[in-house]
Amino acid sequence: MRYKRDMQALSGDQVLGSFVNATPAEAERLELPWWFDAALWDSLDYLGWTDPDAPERGYLVADTSFGVVGAVLRLPKRRPQGRRALCNLCWTQHPGQGALLMVARRAGKAGLNHNTVGTYICADLACSLYVRGLRRSLGGGAMPETITVGVRVQRLQDNLEDFLGRILVD
Ligand SMILES: [Zn+2]
Repeated sequence: MRYKRDMQALSGDQVLGSFVNATPAEAERLELPWWFDAALWDSLDYLGWTDPDAPERGYLVADTSFGVVGAVLRLPKRRPQGRRALCNLCWTQHPGQGALLMVARRAGKAGLNHNTVGTYICADLACSLYVRGLRRSLGGGAMPETITVGVRVQRLQDNLEDFLGRILVD
């Protein structure tokens, strides 16, 4: 099935050049995920990965209706234990550490004023796989909903646009 925005394969330069909220220092250390050449674009709504040398730093790149937009995310240093958490992008329920509050500095002037937006996102940044049933959360799982994969994918894409839009709007 085709979704509203089937993700097209992006080039490495496109990905690295897409970040709207990276400081010069962050832009300097940006690297593609090690699995980039093997990315399964057909099953992705966004490219998401964490920095192997700095696990509190995450990256998310999506092809939105306002272009390819990448965001640098801050993950909490201390991981919450216990209680369940819900990813606000794909609505997958996880045990406490499976979804984390990720915070993005906003783009432009707002970002310079330390303005941020945050939302709970799957800690492995693999929402696309959860909504398609290609990965399952341990001890959590999809919300008990009777909706199709297509509707879940659409909702994820809408939530992504909303999140990235909030980073961009000045
Ligand atoms: Zn998710």
